[in-house]
Amino acid sequence: MNLEKLRNIGISAHIDSGKTTLSERILYYCGRIHKIEDVRGGGDGATMDHMELEKERGITITSAATSVEWKGHPINLIDTPGHVDFTVEVERSLRVLDGAVLVLCSVGGVQSQSITVDRQMKRYQCPRVAFINKMDRTGANPFRVAEQLREKLGADAFLMQYPIGHEESFSGVVDLIEMKAYTHGGTEGEEVIVGDIPADIKDECDKYRGLMLEALSMYSDELMEKLLSEEEISSDLIYKVTRDAVLGGATPVYMGSAYKNKAVQPLLDAVLKYLPSPLDREIKGSDPKDETVKIELRPDPERPFVGMAFKIVDDAFGQLTFMRIYQGKIEKGGTYINQRTSKKERFSRIVRMHSDKREEIDTATAGDIVAVMGIDCASGDTYGIERDQCTLESMFIPDPVIKIS
Ligand code: GDP
Repeated sequence: MNLEKLRNIGISAHIDSGKTTLSERILYYCGRIHKIEDVRGGGDGATMDHMELEKERGITITSAATSVEWKGHPINLIDTPGHVDFTVEVERSLRVLDGAVLVLCSVGGVQSQSITVDRQMKRYQCPRVAFINKMDRTGANPFRVAEQLREKLGADAFLMQYPIGHEESFSGVVDLIEMKAYTHGGTEGEEVIVGDIPADIKDECDKYRGLMLEALSMYSDELMEKLLSEEEISSDLIYKVTRDAVLGGATPVYMGSAYKNKAVQPLLDAVLKYLPSPLDREIKGSDPKDETVKIELRPDPERPFVGMAFKIVDDAFGQLTFMRIYQGKIEKGGTYINQRTSKKERFSRIVRMHSDKREEIDTATAGDIVAVMGIDCASGDTYGIERDQCTLESMFIPDPVIKIS
């Protein structure tokens, strides 16, 4: 596994902003679903229940973790429940991510759950990009949504794209780094057509590119100097600074319409370019005998194994324990020690979940997220190779928030 290429990401959203539709499109573009059928009703309105949809198509959209691949990069999509506030489950799912896509509706903008999710992301210092979905809807206004991200969430949010067409006629985006138009061919939008910026929006694109560069220059002296001296700025420099900005807490904003298959691919490109790999994340566990003693974990397969069970799911094949491996590696049939119970347990099978199949694998290494079969543990349990080695759980018990009104 080339860790530098791996992305462990979650998609978080206020309900109804299109998280499921976007997840489904991502599976489609990553080649895991072979046809987008128009079974969901016409955009807003009639929605087929997710379970029905899954049954109909024989796929899993909402597995705890689904592995896909985009442009040679493995991506683990981790389900982050958006409808619950401060539950341990949300905290755990955020804990295992390296980055996230915050989905917003182009009309609804920043809504109550976006605020909750934002708070949780901040707590876990989860780097993220925003995606303004439903750009085809009447009343779509990405500029207002970006403003709300700044005002309501205090986010350093700036547009990385400019919309082409408005509401019904929304047809794609201008990439403000490359200054190229990305539109789509074919009914399923699989083809990205790269062209010149339409003349009527050229001035606006120049203006928003300027605003983007200004925002980014706060993260780079080099970029700031080049801007001030009006020197030419290379795309490579902007990519690098955007990456640093995301790690520094900025929120670059993308936009599209998942339902109409517009501009989902450029979002996937942004995930690869800007969201971190497991190598970029610093993870600390605690010494189970004295939790004030912190243990730094590194995604190195040669170091002693430490992994955390973050979700337990029963399905027709048995119990699946979804686990993030923070350090070392695991092998099929190997025995590992539950740090909470001190019991030895055999990992009888290791599986990678794809939306359309499960793949049995012999080993899995640090940085990865897989499902293990044959163990009986509680969600949140840490595993290792010896007793009292390391524990992660206590880290995500949130500070108590007491509100007195
Ligand atoms: P979730 O609750 O966030 O998972 O949202 P869904 O993916 O279930 O979408 C909610 C509704 O919005 C459904 O009726 C979708 O068909 C619709 N929807 C999703 N994406 C878009 C979009 O890009 N444009 C429009 N107009 N509707 C969309």
